[in-house]
Formats: sequence, structure tokens, C-alpha cells
Amino acid sequence: MRVVELADGTSVPALGQGTWMMGETSARMNDELAALRLGLDLGMNLIDTAEIYGDGASEELVGEAIAGRRDEVFLVSKVAPSHASRRGTIAACEASLERLGTDRLDLYLLHWRGRFPLGETVAAMEDLIDAGKILRWGVSNFDVSDMDELMEVEGGDRCAVNQILLNLDHRGTEFDLLPWLEERIVATMAYSPIGQGGSLLRRPELLEVADRHDKTPAQIALAFTLRRPGTIAIPKASSLEHVRENAEAIDIRLDAEDWALLDEAFPPPERKMPLAII
Ligand code: NDP
Repeated sequence: MRVVELADGTSVPALGQGTWMMGETSARMNDELAALRLGLDLGMNLIDTAEIYGDGASEELVGEAIAGRRDEVFLVSKVAPSHASRRGTIAACEASLERLGTDRLDLYLLHWRGRFPLGETVAAMEDLIDAGKILRWGVSNFDVSDMDELMEVEGGDRCAVNQILLNLDHRGTEFDLLPWLEERIVATMAYSPIGQGGSLLRRPELLEVADRHDKTPAQIALAFTLRRPGTIAIPKASSLEHVRENAEAIDIRLDAEDWALLDEAFPPPERKMPLAII
């Protein structure tokens, strides 16, 4: 598995697994567990979840999937903005740890900005590190102005990751946010990298590139998000077939002609775009 090196020198897999909408339907849970475990077997050892996913159900499912193999996993969860006060962040993290059946998170993210001052959330994140409950922290859905503000907060420069919407249909961050993050060695985590399995995967230009390589459109969409060396992609897949397909995307090498086709169909930004979020 290709890796991305975080600022503290830790290597994490460039391709991980998302879990939004998992754990919510009992009829699907066995398939979802099998999918997550296969993903681990195939080297996609980073798992992303959040306290709000299924109101804790996703974390419980992840806890079951990683039971007995916790040390193999780089585990990521997120605090909801409504909990992101100094005390609330700590309580939310402890509840997440309980649901996940572990004593620590590898990475804890602020899911998006809310009403609590960033300084409070950062102080709570640092408390959690001191207590050994998280190993590092980051943010999600932060644009350049949010990152600039974060850097003004004491300890804000210890932010390890910004998790953002990034796929062929949403390239706005290439203009300013991705260069900002790369310059400061804050890793990017690309969410919804295959456009939630929707219309993106039916775009003819994507099909054309996929055909040229005997790959699927989802694999090419993933190859796009993995193009930048500091970027981690976290596709969610609950079928074994999708998991296998996604894992193979790590080895895809596109050539100049492919990139030109994709750039024409999904043009890179020429000016500042507001940060897109889901
Ligand atoms: P994705 O782009 O990962 O798409 C997931 C959808 O694509 C599912 O319906 C899945 O189907 C389908 N799919 C997976 N693999 C394939 C494939 N090879 N071919 C065709 N279809 C496929 O969307 P998500 O929004 O789930 O994003 C990924 C993760 O990012 C989330 O699960 C979550 O962990 C995180 N996230 C974070 C956000 C934030 O605010 N920080 C916001 C949104 C997501 P199936 O499940 O049936 O296999």
C-alpha cells in the first residue's frame, strides 16, 4: 500500500475506508462488516468514522470490524461541532472510544466549524493527546480562511489533517487550499472521492479513460484523488466487489493524455471557489 507521511513522520495508507451510512440497517450489517474486514486484509487500514454517523451506529460497527486487530488500524473519528467545547470534545471522544471498543484514536477531527471558538476545541484536543486518548488531531471542511484562523490559535499549528470534499466534480480546492495544506504539511483527506457512487461514475469522459486502462470509472475517480502525494482517499464501500475494485485503484498510473481528457471534462479551477461541502 502506498503511504502518506504525516507531519509527525507517521505513515498512513493513501487509501482508506469511509463508513458514513454504515451500521444503520441490521440487514446490511454482516455485509458491511465483511467489507471493512476485507478492506483491512487488502491494506486499506485507515478507517474513517464519526460520532454523528448513524448516531453512533457506524462507530459501533467499526468497533466490531476491528475487534482483535486494533493495532493494524489507523482509526479516525470526528467530534460534532455541537459538542466541540473544551469539556464537550473530551466527553464526545470518550463516548466514541467506548463505542469503538478501543482506548485511543489515531486521529480525531473537528467535523466542521460550529459555534465554539477554535481555541476551545484545540485545547481539548491537546488535553486528549496528553491523556493518551488520541494520538493527533485535525479538522474537516476547513477552507483557507479557516486554516489561517486556526494557525492564530495556540497549538493550532499542530493540526495534522484537513478532511475535505475532493473528487473530479469538486476540484475547487486545487486553486488555493491544497497548495496551502501541502506547503504546511497538513495532509488532505479526500471524502466522497467517487462522488457517492452517483452520476459522476456515468460521465462519458470518465468511461473513456476507464476503458483505455481496462478499469472501472470508480477506480479512475479514485486515481484522480490519489494523484497528489499528500492526499489520502477514503471511499466507502459495503460490497466486497467494490472493496476489491477500490483497493486496486492504488496501482493505476494515468498518462498525460488521460489527464488532458479528464481536465477537459472536469476543468481545474482558475480562481478562488468557495469550499464545497456535503
Ligand atoms: P463515496 O464517494 O465514498 O461513495 C460511496 C458510494 O459509492 C456508496 O454508495 C458505495 O456503494 C459506492 N461505491 C463504492 N465503491 C464503488 C465502486 N468501486 N464502484 C461503484 N460504486 C462504488 O462517498 P461518501 O460520501 O461515503 O464518502 C466517503 C467517506 O468520507 C464517508 O463514508 C465518510 O467516512 C467520509 N465523509 C466525510 C464527510 C465530512 O464532512 N468530513 C462528508 C462525507 C463523507 P456500496 O456501499 O454499496 O459499496
